[in-house]
Amino acid sequence: MGRPDPKLAAALAADDKAEDQGMHGDDRRTCHTHQTWVDNCKDSPLHRDPHLYALAPSLFDR
Ligand SMILES: [Zn+2]
Repeated sequence: MGRPDPKLAAALAADDKAEDQGMHGDDRRTCHTHQTWVDNCKDSPLHRDPHLYALAPSLFDR
């Protein structure tokens, strides 16, 4: 955790660019919010219940 990963950085940049060009966010391999691989944060409260998270972020301690 917290260690720079050149492969991750490249994949994040590629996903950001692809999304800018119209790719659906669900097709990302990386998470822009958490700056990590999707597999590493898909169980985050933000992803499990994004609406509740948006309404009451203080309920989650990330
Ligand atoms: Zn995430």
